[in-house]
Amino acid sequence: MNDELPQLPAVDDIQNLLRFEYEEGRIWLGEERMILLRSSEMQALRRELIDSLGMDRAKGLLIRMGYIAGQQDAATAKKLRPDAPLFDIFSVGPQSHMVTGQVKVTPIKLEMDEQRQTFHGIFNWENSFEAEIFLAEYGVSYEPVCWAQIGYATGYTSHFMGRQILFREQGCVGCGEKICRIEGRPVEEWDDCEELLRYYRPDRIADQLFELQSQVTSLRENLTKDQSFGDLVGCSQKFLQVRELLAKAAESRVTVLLLGETGVGKDMFATALHKGSPRRDKPFVAVNCAAIPRDLIEAELFGVEKGAFTGADQSRPGRFERAHGGTLFLDEVGELSLQAQAALLRVLQENELERVGDTRTRKVDVRLVAATNEDLGRAVEEGRFRSDLLYRLNVYSVTVPPLRERLDDIPELVRHFIAKYGALHGKSIQGVTDKAMQMLRDYHWPGNIRELGNIMERGIILVEQGGYIEAAHLFPHLAAKESVKQVVASGDPGWLVETVDQMLEAGCELGQVEREMTVRALDRVGGNVTRAAKLLGLSRAALDYRLKKNKC
Ligand SMILES: [Zn+2]
Repeated sequence: MNDELPQLPAVDDIQNLLRFEYEEGRIWLGEERMILLRSSEMQALRRELIDSLGMDRAKGLLIRMGYIAGQQDAATAKKLRPDAPLFDIFSVGPQSHMVTGQVKVTPIKLEMDEQRQTFHGIFNWENSFEAEIFLAEYGVSYEPVCWAQIGYATGYTSHFMGRQILFREQGCVGCGEKICRIEGRPVEEWDDCEELLRYYRPDRIADQLFELQSQVTSLRENLTKDQSFGDLVGCSQKFLQVRELLAKAAESRVTVLLLGETGVGKDMFATALHKGSPRRDKPFVAVNCAAIPRDLIEAELFGVEKGAFTGADQSRPGRFERAHGGTLFLDEVGELSLQAQAALLRVLQENELERVGDTRTRKVDVRLVAATNEDLGRAVEEGRFRSDLLYRLNVYSVTVPPLRERLDDIPELVRHFIAKYGALHGKSIQGVTDKAMQMLRDYHWPGNIRELGNIMERGIILVEQGGYIEAAHLFPHLAAKESVKQVVASGDPGWLVETVDQMLEAGCELGQVEREMTVRALDRVGGNVTRAAKLLGLSRAALDYRLKKNKC
Protein backbone atom coordinates (compact mmCIF):
# COMPACT_ATOMS: atom_id res chain seq x y z
CA MET A 1 0.00 0.00 0.00
CA ASN A 2 1.54 3.33 -1.00
CA ASP A 3 1.98 6.60 0.83
CA GLU A 4 -0.91 8.37 -0.94
CA LEU A 5 -3.72 7.41 1.39
CA PRO A 6 -7.22 7.12 -0.07
CA GLN A 7 -10.24 8.64 1.68
CA LEU A 8 -12.03 6.56 4.28
CA PRO A 9 -14.79 4.64 2.47
CA ALA A 10 -18.51 5.29 2.96
CA VAL A 11 -19.57 4.26 6.42
CA ASP A 12 -23.21 3.30 5.81
CA ASP A 13 -22.49 -0.45 5.88
CA ILE A 14 -21.42 -0.06 9.52
CA GLN A 15 -24.25 2.33 10.30
CA ASN A 16 -26.73 -0.13 8.82
CA LEU A 17 -25.59 -2.73 11.34
CA LEU A 18 -26.89 -0.45 14.05
CA ARG A 19 -30.47 -1.29 14.98
CA PHE A 20 -32.61 0.07 17.78
CA GLU A 21 -35.26 -2.25 19.20
CA TYR A 22 -36.83 0.39 21.38
CA GLU A 23 -39.71 -1.75 22.52
CA GLU A 24 -37.47 -4.69 23.42
CA GLY A 25 -34.94 -2.50 25.23
CA ARG A 26 -32.10 -3.60 22.99
CA ILE A 27 -29.62 -2.07 20.57
CA TRP A 28 -27.63 -4.16 18.12
CA LEU A 29 -24.50 -3.59 16.08
CA GLY A 30 -24.74 -6.54 13.73
CA GLU A 31 -24.79 -9.55 16.01
CA GLU A 32 -23.49 -7.72 19.03
CA ARG A 33 -25.67 -6.21 21.66
CA MET A 34 -24.68 -2.63 22.38
CA ILE A 35 -25.57 -0.19 25.11
CA LEU A 36 -25.60 3.57 25.12
CA LEU A 37 -23.60 4.81 28.08
CA ARG A 38 -23.25 8.39 29.17
CA SER A 39 -19.62 9.47 29.08
CA SER A 40 -20.22 10.73 32.61
CA GLU A 41 -20.85 7.11 33.62
CA MET A 42 -17.54 6.09 32.08
CA GLN A 43 -15.94 9.01 33.89
CA ALA A 44 -17.32 7.80 37.21
CA LEU A 45 -16.29 4.21 36.48
CA ARG A 46 -12.82 5.30 35.50
CA ARG A 47 -12.43 7.35 38.65
CA GLU A 48 -13.52 4.37 40.75
CA LEU A 49 -11.08 2.11 38.94
CA ILE A 50 -8.20 4.51 39.45
CA ASP A 51 -9.11 5.08 43.09
CA SER A 52 -9.47 1.43 43.95
CA LEU A 53 -6.83 -0.19 41.70
CA GLY A 54 -4.36 2.62 41.15
CA MET A 55 -3.52 4.38 37.89
CA ASP A 56 -1.40 1.56 36.51
CA ARG A 57 -3.87 -1.24 37.00
CA ALA A 58 -6.82 0.84 35.85
CA LYS A 59 -4.90 1.62 32.70
CA GLY A 60 -4.15 -2.05 32.02
CA LEU A 61 -7.75 -3.00 32.64
CA LEU A 62 -9.16 -0.41 30.26
CA ILE A 63 -6.56 -1.27 27.62
CA ARG A 64 -7.62 -4.88 27.74
CA MET A 65 -11.29 -3.93 27.65
CA GLY A 66 -10.66 -1.99 24.45
CA TYR A 67 -8.58 -4.86 23.14
CA ILE A 68 -11.52 -7.25 23.30
CA ALA A 69 -13.77 -4.85 21.41
CA GLY A 70 -11.08 -4.40 18.74
CA GLN A 71 -10.62 -8.13 18.41
CA GLN A 72 -14.35 -8.61 17.86
CA ASP A 73 -14.54 -5.91 15.20
CA ALA A 74 -11.56 -7.38 13.36
CA ALA A 75 -13.37 -10.71 13.23
CA THR A 76 -16.23 -9.13 11.30
CA ALA A 77 -14.31 -6.60 9.17
CA LYS A 78 -13.50 -9.00 6.34
CA LYS A 79 -17.06 -10.31 6.31
CA LEU A 80 -18.46 -6.81 6.11
CA ARG A 81 -16.37 -5.73 3.12
CA PRO A 82 -15.37 -9.01 1.49
CA ASP A 83 -14.43 -7.69 -1.94
CA ALA A 84 -13.16 -4.24 -0.99
CA PRO A 85 -9.51 -3.06 -1.24
CA LEU A 86 -7.39 -3.81 1.82
CA PHE A 87 -7.45 -0.18 2.97
CA ASP A 88 -11.26 -0.17 3.01
CA ILE A 89 -11.45 -3.45 4.88
CA PHE A 90 -8.99 -2.20 7.48
CA SER A 91 -10.96 1.03 7.84
CA VAL A 92 -13.84 -0.90 9.45
CA GLY A 93 -11.92 -0.59 12.75
CA PRO A 94 -11.29 3.16 12.75
CA GLN A 95 -14.77 3.75 11.38
CA SER A 96 -16.42 1.60 14.07
CA HIS A 97 -14.58 3.76 16.58
CA MET A 98 -16.20 6.76 14.95
CA VAL A 99 -19.69 5.26 14.57
CA THR A 100 -19.71 4.29 18.25
CA GLY A 101 -18.87 7.88 19.15
CA GLN A 102 -15.48 7.35 20.75
CA VAL A 103 -13.12 9.33 18.59
CA LYS A 104 -12.63 10.84 15.14
CA VAL A 105 -9.90 9.03 13.23
CA THR A 106 -7.82 10.36 10.34
CA PRO A 107 -5.28 8.01 8.78
CA ILE A 108 -1.92 9.75 8.23
CA LYS A 109 0.15 6.79 7.17
CA LEU A 110 -0.77 3.18 6.56
CA GLU A 111 1.66 0.65 5.16
CA MET A 112 0.54 -2.90 5.45
CA ASP A 113 1.30 -6.12 3.63
CA GLU A 114 -0.73 -9.16 4.56
CA GLN A 115 1.65 -11.59 2.89
CA ARG A 116 4.83 -10.25 4.44
CA GLN A 117 2.93 -9.34 7.59
CA THR A 118 4.44 -5.89 7.81
CA PHE A 119 2.58 -2.99 9.34
CA HIS A 120 3.19 0.66 10.04
CA GLY A 121 0.29 2.97 10.77
CA ILE A 122 -0.07 6.55 12.05
CA PHE A 123 -3.47 8.03 12.80
CA ASN A 124 -4.69 11.30 14.21
CA TRP A 125 -7.37 11.23 16.84
CA GLU A 126 -9.70 14.14 17.50
CA ASN A 127 -12.58 14.42 19.94
CA SER A 128 -11.27 11.51 22.04
CA PHE A 129 -13.89 10.86 24.72
CA GLU A 130 -11.30 9.43 27.06
CA ALA A 131 -9.12 12.53 26.87
CA GLU A 132 -12.23 14.62 27.53
CA ILE A 133 -13.29 12.76 30.67
CA PHE A 134 -9.73 12.54 31.99
CA LEU A 135 -9.20 16.28 31.68
CA ALA A 136 -12.54 16.95 33.36
CA GLU A 137 -11.62 14.74 36.31
CA TYR A 138 -7.88 15.15 36.76
CA GLY A 139 -6.61 17.98 34.57
CA VAL A 140 -3.55 17.74 32.31
CA SER A 141 -1.70 14.44 32.54
CA TYR A 142 2.01 13.79 32.11
CA GLU A 143 1.30 10.71 29.99
CA PRO A 144 -1.30 9.76 27.36
CA VAL A 145 -4.70 8.80 28.71
CA CYS A 146 -6.71 7.24 25.83
CA TRP A 147 -6.34 3.76 27.22
CA ALA A 148 -9.40 1.79 26.06
CA GLN A 149 -9.04 3.36 22.62
CA ILE A 150 -5.37 2.41 22.27
CA GLY A 151 -6.27 -1.10 23.46
CA TYR A 152 -8.89 -1.21 20.75
CA ALA A 153 -6.38 -0.18 18.06
CA THR A 154 -3.94 -2.86 19.25
CA GLY A 155 -6.61 -5.57 19.52
CA TYR A 156 -8.14 -4.70 16.18
CA THR A 157 -4.89 -4.56 14.24
CA SER A 158 -3.31 -7.61 15.90
CA HIS A 159 -6.34 -9.71 15.12
CA PHE A 160 -6.60 -8.24 11.63
CA MET A 161 -2.95 -8.91 10.76
CA GLY A 162 -2.74 -12.24 12.58
CA ARG A 163 0.33 -11.06 14.52
CA GLN A 164 0.92 -8.77 17.46
CA ILE A 165 0.88 -5.11 16.43
CA LEU A 166 1.33 -2.61 19.25
CA PHE A 167 -0.08 0.89 19.19
CA ARG A 168 1.06 3.75 21.39
CA GLU A 169 -0.03 7.32 21.71
CA GLN A 170 2.79 9.60 20.58
CA GLY A 171 0.82 12.64 21.62
CA CYS A 172 -2.42 13.07 23.57
CA VAL A 173 -5.01 15.77 24.22
CA GLY A 174 -4.92 14.56 27.82
CA CYS A 175 -1.33 15.89 27.97
CA GLY A 176 -2.39 19.30 26.74
CA GLU A 177 -1.78 18.73 23.04
CA LYS A 178 -4.20 19.73 20.29
CA ILE A 179 -4.83 16.25 18.96
CA CYS A 180 -3.91 12.70 19.87
CA ARG A 181 -1.59 10.89 17.49
CA ILE A 182 -1.16 7.12 17.56
CA GLU A 183 1.39 4.90 15.91
CA GLY A 184 1.28 1.13 15.42
CA ARG A 185 4.13 -1.27 14.62
CA PRO A 186 4.85 -4.97 15.09
CA VAL A 187 5.81 -5.58 18.69
CA GLU A 188 9.50 -6.29 18.07
CA GLU A 189 10.00 -2.97 16.27
CA TRP A 190 9.43 -1.04 19.48
CA ASP A 191 12.67 -0.58 21.45
CA ASP A 192 10.78 -0.24 24.69
CA CYS A 193 8.39 -3.06 23.88
CA GLU A 194 8.87 -4.67 27.30
CA GLU A 195 7.69 -1.50 29.00
CA LEU A 196 4.78 -1.22 26.57
CA LEU A 197 3.89 -4.86 26.90
CA ARG A 198 3.38 -4.39 30.60
CA TYR A 199 0.00 -2.98 29.66
CA TYR A 200 -0.18 -3.95 26.04
CA ARG A 201 0.13 -7.63 26.59
CA PRO A 202 -3.50 -8.00 25.54
CA ASP A 203 -2.75 -10.87 23.24
CA ARG A 204 -0.99 -12.85 25.89
CA ILE A 205 -3.39 -11.84 28.59
CA ALA A 206 -6.35 -12.72 26.44
CA ASP A 207 -4.66 -15.99 25.56
CA GLN A 208 -3.85 -16.67 29.18
CA LEU A 209 -7.41 -15.95 30.17
CA PHE A 210 -8.63 -18.16 27.39
CA GLU A 211 -6.17 -20.84 28.41
CA LEU A 212 -7.16 -20.61 32.05
CA GLN A 213 -10.79 -20.62 31.11
CA SER A 214 -10.44 -23.81 29.11
CA GLN A 215 -8.46 -25.32 31.98
CA VAL A 216 -11.27 -24.46 34.35
CA THR A 217 -13.80 -25.88 31.93
CA SER A 218 -11.91 -29.12 31.54
CA LEU A 219 -11.32 -29.37 35.28
CA ARG A 220 -14.99 -28.78 35.80
CA GLU A 221 -15.77 -31.34 33.14
CA ASN A 222 -13.58 -33.91 34.85
CA LEU A 223 -15.15 -33.02 38.11
CA THR A 224 -18.62 -33.62 36.76
CA LYS A 225 -17.38 -36.70 34.94
CA ASP A 226 -16.24 -38.12 38.26
CA GLN A 227 -19.75 -37.76 39.52
CA SER A 228 -20.81 -38.73 36.01
CA PHE A 229 -23.25 -35.96 35.46
CA GLY A 230 -22.33 -35.83 31.76
CA ASP A 231 -24.53 -33.22 30.13
CA LEU A 232 -26.27 -32.63 33.45
CA VAL A 233 -25.22 -29.04 33.78
CA GLY A 234 -27.21 -26.28 35.34
CA CYS A 235 -27.92 -24.10 38.31
CA SER A 236 -31.63 -23.39 37.93
CA GLN A 237 -33.98 -24.15 40.80
CA LYS A 238 -35.80 -26.92 38.90
CA PHE A 239 -32.62 -28.62 37.79
CA LEU A 240 -31.10 -28.56 41.26
CA GLN A 241 -34.30 -29.97 42.75
CA VAL A 242 -34.14 -32.98 40.44
CA ARG A 243 -30.48 -33.53 41.23
CA GLU A 244 -31.20 -33.36 44.91
CA LEU A 245 -34.08 -35.85 44.66
CA LEU A 246 -31.86 -38.28 42.77
CA ALA A 247 -28.95 -37.83 45.18
CA LYS A 248 -31.30 -38.86 47.99
CA ALA A 249 -32.54 -41.89 46.06
CA ALA A 250 -29.01 -42.96 45.19
CA GLU A 251 -28.22 -44.12 48.73
CA SER A 252 -31.09 -46.60 48.97
CA ARG A 253 -32.19 -49.39 46.63
CA VAL A 254 -35.56 -47.82 45.87
CA THR A 255 -36.93 -48.24 42.34
CA VAL A 256 -36.95 -44.87 40.56
CA LEU A 257 -39.32 -43.79 37.80
CA LEU A 258 -38.06 -40.92 35.67
CA LEU A 259 -40.75 -38.91 33.88
CA GLY A 260 -40.37 -36.16 31.34
CA GLU A 261 -40.46 -35.23 27.66
CA THR A 262 -38.23 -36.74 25.03
CA GLY A 263 -34.72 -35.32 25.04
CA VAL A 264 -34.64 -33.99 28.61
CA GLY A 265 -31.79 -36.35 29.48
CA LYS A 266 -33.50 -39.09 31.50
CA ASP A 267 -30.77 -41.53 30.46
CA MET A 268 -28.10 -39.21 31.85
CA PHE A 269 -29.95 -38.81 35.12
CA ALA A 270 -30.17 -42.61 35.35
CA THR A 271 -26.40 -42.92 34.80
CA ALA A 272 -25.77 -40.22 37.38
CA LEU A 273 -28.00 -42.01 39.85
CA HIS A 274 -26.02 -45.21 39.38
CA LYS A 275 -22.65 -43.47 39.66
CA GLY A 276 -23.77 -41.71 42.79
CA SER A 277 -24.95 -44.93 44.44
CA PRO A 278 -23.03 -47.57 46.41
CA ARG A 279 -23.42 -49.76 43.30
CA ARG A 280 -21.19 -47.51 41.22
CA ASP A 281 -18.51 -50.20 40.72
CA LYS A 282 -21.03 -52.77 39.51
CA PRO A 283 -22.58 -52.89 36.04
CA PHE A 284 -24.94 -50.26 34.67
CA VAL A 285 -27.10 -51.86 31.97
CA ALA A 286 -29.43 -49.78 29.80
CA VAL A 287 -32.28 -51.16 27.71
CA ASN A 288 -34.57 -49.16 25.45
CA CYS A 289 -37.77 -51.20 25.50
CA ALA A 290 -39.04 -49.50 22.34
CA ALA A 291 -35.96 -50.61 20.38
CA ILE A 292 -36.48 -54.35 20.92
CA PRO A 293 -39.23 -56.33 19.15
CA ARG A 294 -42.03 -57.14 21.57
CA ASP A 295 -41.78 -60.91 21.20
CA LEU A 296 -38.05 -60.84 21.98
CA ILE A 297 -38.13 -58.47 24.94
CA GLU A 298 -38.67 -61.20 27.55
CA ALA A 299 -35.69 -63.21 26.34
CA GLU A 300 -33.65 -60.02 26.21
CA LEU A 301 -34.50 -58.99 29.78
CA PHE A 302 -34.70 -62.30 31.57
CA GLY A 303 -32.47 -64.55 29.47
CA VAL A 304 -33.22 -67.74 27.64
CA GLU A 305 -32.55 -71.49 28.02
CA LYS A 306 -31.30 -73.56 25.12
CA GLY A 307 -34.18 -74.88 23.03
CA ALA A 308 -36.78 -72.55 24.52
CA PHE A 309 -37.76 -71.49 21.01
CA THR A 310 -36.52 -71.85 17.45
CA GLY A 311 -33.20 -70.09 17.20
CA ALA A 312 -32.42 -70.37 20.92
CA ASP A 313 -29.59 -72.81 20.37
CA GLN A 314 -27.60 -71.59 23.33
CA SER A 315 -28.47 -70.59 26.85
CA ARG A 316 -27.73 -66.97 27.68
CA PRO A 317 -28.37 -64.60 30.55
CA GLY A 318 -30.67 -61.62 30.12
CA ARG A 319 -29.98 -57.99 30.96
CA PHE A 320 -31.24 -58.46 34.51
CA GLU A 321 -28.64 -61.08 35.25
CA ARG A 322 -25.95 -59.01 33.60
CA ALA A 323 -26.87 -56.07 35.82
CA HIS A 324 -26.54 -58.21 38.96
CA GLY A 325 -25.28 -56.10 41.85
CA GLY A 326 -25.71 -52.94 39.77
CA THR A 327 -28.43 -50.91 38.08
CA LEU A 328 -30.78 -51.73 35.21
CA PHE A 329 -32.18 -48.77 33.29
CA LEU A 330 -35.39 -49.52 31.39
CA ASP A 331 -36.14 -46.65 29.04
CA GLU A 332 -39.63 -46.34 27.48
CA VAL A 333 -40.96 -48.84 29.97
CA GLY A 334 -44.51 -48.23 28.69
CA GLU A 335 -43.60 -50.24 25.59
CA LEU A 336 -43.26 -53.55 27.47
CA SER A 337 -45.65 -56.34 26.50
CA LEU A 338 -48.14 -57.40 29.18
CA GLN A 339 -46.29 -60.70 29.54
CA ALA A 340 -42.99 -58.95 30.09
CA GLN A 341 -44.72 -56.64 32.57
CA ALA A 342 -45.82 -59.67 34.61
CA ALA A 343 -42.29 -61.04 34.67
CA LEU A 344 -40.90 -57.64 35.62
CA LEU A 345 -43.37 -57.32 38.47
CA ARG A 346 -42.19 -60.66 39.80
CA VAL A 347 -38.55 -59.62 39.79
CA LEU A 348 -39.46 -56.45 41.65
CA GLN A 349 -41.47 -58.35 44.26
CA GLU A 350 -39.36 -61.49 44.73
CA ASN A 351 -35.93 -60.47 43.45
CA GLU A 352 -35.89 -63.62 41.38
CA LEU A 353 -36.48 -64.59 37.78
CA GLU A 354 -36.72 -67.53 35.43
CA ARG A 355 -35.10 -67.49 32.04
CA VAL A 356 -37.46 -68.10 29.13
CA GLY A 357 -37.86 -71.89 28.73
CA ASP A 358 -36.33 -72.61 32.12
CA THR A 359 -37.84 -73.88 35.35
CA ARG A 360 -34.95 -72.92 37.57
CA THR A 361 -35.36 -69.79 39.66
CA ARG A 362 -32.41 -67.40 39.86
CA LYS A 363 -31.86 -64.73 42.50
CA VAL A 364 -30.89 -61.29 41.24
CA ASP A 365 -29.96 -58.11 43.06
CA VAL A 366 -30.71 -55.22 40.75
CA ARG A 367 -31.72 -51.60 41.33
CA LEU A 368 -34.27 -50.68 38.67
CA VAL A 369 -34.54 -47.24 37.14
CA ALA A 370 -37.42 -46.95 34.67
CA ALA A 371 -38.23 -44.03 32.41
CA THR A 372 -41.07 -42.98 30.17
CA ASN A 373 -42.46 -39.93 28.41
CA GLU A 374 -45.86 -41.59 28.34
CA ASP A 375 -48.76 -41.05 30.72
CA LEU A 376 -48.71 -44.47 32.39
CA GLY A 377 -51.94 -43.70 34.26
CA ARG A 378 -53.73 -43.47 30.97
CA ALA A 379 -51.97 -46.62 29.71
CA VAL A 380 -53.43 -48.39 32.75
CA GLU A 381 -56.93 -47.08 31.94
CA GLU A 382 -56.55 -48.32 28.40
CA GLY A 383 -55.47 -51.76 29.61
CA ARG A 384 -51.97 -51.48 28.13
CA PHE A 385 -50.14 -51.32 31.43
CA ARG A 386 -50.57 -53.28 34.66
CA SER A 387 -51.74 -51.13 37.53
CA ASP A 388 -49.86 -53.23 40.11
CA LEU A 389 -46.62 -52.69 38.16
CA LEU A 390 -47.25 -48.94 37.92
CA TYR A 391 -47.82 -48.92 41.67
CA ARG A 392 -44.44 -50.62 42.16
CA LEU A 393 -42.60 -48.33 39.78
CA ASN A 394 -44.22 -45.19 41.08
CA VAL A 395 -42.75 -45.44 44.59
CA TYR A 396 -40.20 -42.75 43.83
CA SER A 397 -41.00 -40.83 40.69
CA VAL A 398 -39.00 -37.82 39.57
CA THR A 399 -40.07 -35.49 36.77
CA VAL A 400 -37.21 -34.05 34.74
CA PRO A 401 -38.22 -30.53 33.61
CA PRO A 402 -38.21 -29.58 29.94
CA LEU A 403 -35.52 -27.14 28.84
CA ARG A 404 -38.02 -24.29 28.35
CA GLU A 405 -38.65 -24.39 32.11
CA ARG A 406 -34.95 -24.02 32.92
CA LEU A 407 -33.83 -21.37 30.45
CA ASP A 408 -31.46 -19.96 33.08
CA ASP A 409 -29.30 -23.03 32.52
CA ILE A 410 -28.75 -22.24 28.87
CA PRO A 411 -25.52 -20.18 29.21
CA GLU A 412 -23.93 -22.94 31.29
CA LEU A 413 -25.18 -25.65 28.93
CA VAL A 414 -23.85 -23.68 25.98
CA ARG A 415 -20.40 -23.47 27.62
CA HIS A 416 -20.58 -27.17 28.35
CA PHE A 417 -21.44 -28.12 24.77
CA ILE A 418 -18.76 -25.81 23.38
CA ALA A 419 -16.17 -27.57 25.55
CA LYS A 420 -17.54 -31.00 24.69
CA TYR A 421 -18.00 -30.64 20.93
CA GLY A 422 -15.06 -28.25 20.56
CA ALA A 423 -12.85 -31.05 21.90
CA LEU A 424 -14.60 -33.60 19.70
CA HIS A 425 -14.10 -31.56 16.53
CA GLY A 426 -10.71 -30.14 17.50
CA LYS A 427 -11.85 -26.51 17.62
CA SER A 428 -11.21 -23.68 20.06
CA ILE A 429 -14.30 -21.53 20.10
CA GLN A 430 -14.50 -18.18 21.90
CA GLY A 431 -18.21 -18.50 22.62
CA VAL A 432 -21.47 -17.38 21.11
CA THR A 433 -22.39 -13.82 20.10
CA ASP A 434 -24.85 -11.88 22.28
CA LYS A 435 -27.43 -12.15 19.53
CA ALA A 436 -27.02 -15.91 19.28
CA MET A 437 -27.34 -16.23 23.06
CA GLN A 438 -30.50 -14.15 22.97
CA MET A 439 -31.99 -16.43 20.31
CA LEU A 440 -31.02 -19.53 22.28
CA ARG A 441 -32.86 -18.09 25.27
CA ASP A 442 -35.91 -17.09 23.23
CA TYR A 443 -36.35 -20.45 21.50
CA HIS A 444 -38.98 -22.87 22.88
CA TRP A 445 -36.90 -26.09 22.66
CA PRO A 446 -39.40 -28.82 21.76
CA GLY A 447 -36.50 -31.30 21.53
CA ASN A 448 -35.00 -30.20 24.86
CA ILE A 449 -31.33 -30.75 25.82
CA ARG A 450 -30.82 -33.19 22.97
CA GLU A 451 -31.90 -30.53 20.48
CA LEU A 452 -29.66 -27.94 22.13
CA GLY A 453 -26.75 -30.37 21.91
CA ASN A 454 -27.43 -30.99 18.21
CA ILE A 455 -27.74 -27.30 17.42
CA MET A 456 -24.54 -26.48 19.30
CA GLU A 457 -22.64 -29.24 17.55
CA ARG A 458 -23.77 -27.91 14.17
CA GLY A 459 -22.70 -24.40 15.21
CA ILE A 460 -19.26 -25.65 16.25
CA ILE A 461 -18.82 -27.43 12.92
CA LEU A 462 -19.79 -24.27 11.00
CA VAL A 463 -17.86 -21.63 12.95
CA GLU A 464 -14.29 -20.83 12.04
CA GLN A 465 -11.42 -21.73 14.36
CA GLY A 466 -11.15 -19.28 17.24
CA GLY A 467 -14.36 -17.46 16.27
CA TYR A 468 -17.69 -16.73 17.86
CA ILE A 469 -20.74 -18.83 17.01
CA GLU A 470 -23.31 -16.57 15.37
CA ALA A 471 -27.10 -16.76 15.26
CA ALA A 472 -27.03 -17.86 11.62
CA HIS A 473 -24.85 -20.86 12.53
CA LEU A 474 -27.49 -22.02 14.97
CA PHE A 475 -30.80 -20.92 13.49
CA PRO A 476 -30.38 -20.40 9.74
CA HIS A 477 -34.15 -19.88 9.28
CA LEU A 478 -34.70 -17.33 12.01
CA ALA A 479 -31.53 -15.49 11.04
CA ALA A 480 -32.79 -15.16 7.45
CA LYS A 481 -35.88 -13.40 8.76
CA GLU A 482 -33.63 -11.03 10.71
CA SER A 483 -31.66 -10.26 7.58
CA VAL A 484 -34.83 -9.19 5.71
CA LYS A 485 -35.22 -6.60 8.47
CA GLN A 486 -31.68 -5.43 7.92
CA VAL A 487 -32.06 -5.24 4.15
CA VAL A 488 -35.21 -3.16 4.59
CA ALA A 489 -33.32 -0.92 7.00
CA SER A 490 -30.59 -0.42 4.41
CA GLY A 491 -33.12 0.95 1.91
CA ASP A 492 -32.04 -1.47 -0.83
CA PRO A 493 -35.24 -2.59 -2.61
CA GLY A 494 -33.60 -5.77 -3.98
CA TRP A 495 -35.41 -8.04 -1.57
CA LEU A 496 -38.80 -6.81 -2.80
CA VAL A 497 -38.22 -7.63 -6.44
CA GLU A 498 -39.00 -11.31 -6.18
CA THR A 499 -42.17 -10.78 -4.14
CA VAL A 500 -43.41 -8.07 -6.48
CA ASP A 501 -42.74 -10.27 -9.52
CA GLN A 502 -44.84 -13.02 -8.00
CA MET A 503 -47.64 -10.59 -7.19
CA LEU A 504 -47.69 -9.18 -10.72
CA GLU A 505 -47.76 -12.67 -12.15
CA ALA A 506 -50.72 -13.49 -9.96
CA GLY A 507 -52.57 -10.43 -11.32
CA CYS A 508 -52.41 -8.43 -8.10
CA GLU A 509 -53.14 -4.70 -8.59
CA LEU A 510 -51.54 -1.68 -6.96
CA GLY A 511 -54.78 -0.52 -5.36
CA GLN A 512 -55.17 -3.90 -3.73
CA VAL A 513 -51.65 -3.77 -2.26
CA GLU A 514 -52.26 -0.23 -1.03
CA ARG A 515 -55.55 -1.19 0.63
CA GLU A 516 -53.98 -4.25 2.23
CA MET A 517 -50.98 -2.35 3.58
CA THR A 518 -53.24 0.39 4.93
CA VAL A 519 -55.55 -2.07 6.68
CA ARG A 520 -52.62 -4.01 8.15
CA ALA A 521 -50.94 -0.84 9.36
CA LEU A 522 -54.14 0.38 11.04
CA ASP A 523 -54.58 -3.06 12.60
CA ARG A 524 -51.10 -2.94 14.10
CA VAL A 525 -51.61 0.38 15.85
CA GLY A 526 -55.17 -0.25 17.02
CA GLY A 527 -56.74 2.08 14.45
CA ASN A 528 -54.67 5.16 15.35
CA VAL A 529 -54.45 6.99 12.02
CA THR A 530 -51.50 9.20 12.98
CA ARG A 531 -49.40 6.20 14.02
CA ALA A 532 -50.50 4.18 10.99
CA ALA A 533 -49.44 7.06 8.74
CA LYS A 534 -46.01 7.09 10.39
CA LEU A 535 -45.69 3.35 9.89
CA LEU A 536 -46.50 3.75 6.18
CA GLY A 537 -44.20 6.72 5.72
CA LEU A 538 -47.10 9.07 4.88
CA SER A 539 -48.38 12.30 6.33
CA ARG A 540 -51.60 12.12 8.32
CA ALA A 541 -53.42 14.09 5.58
CA ALA A 542 -52.14 11.79 2.84
CA LEU A 543 -53.40 8.74 4.71
CA ASP A 544 -56.78 10.39 5.38
CA TYR A 545 -57.10 11.02 1.67
CA ARG A 546 -56.31 7.41 0.80
CA LEU A 547 -58.68 6.07 3.43
CA LYS A 548 -61.50 8.15 1.96
CA LYS A 549 -60.57 7.15 -1.57
CA ASN A 550 -60.46 3.46 -0.69
CA LYS A 551 -63.39 3.71 1.74
CA CYS A 552 -61.47 1.74 4.36
ZN1 LIG B 1 -5.25 10.74 23.67
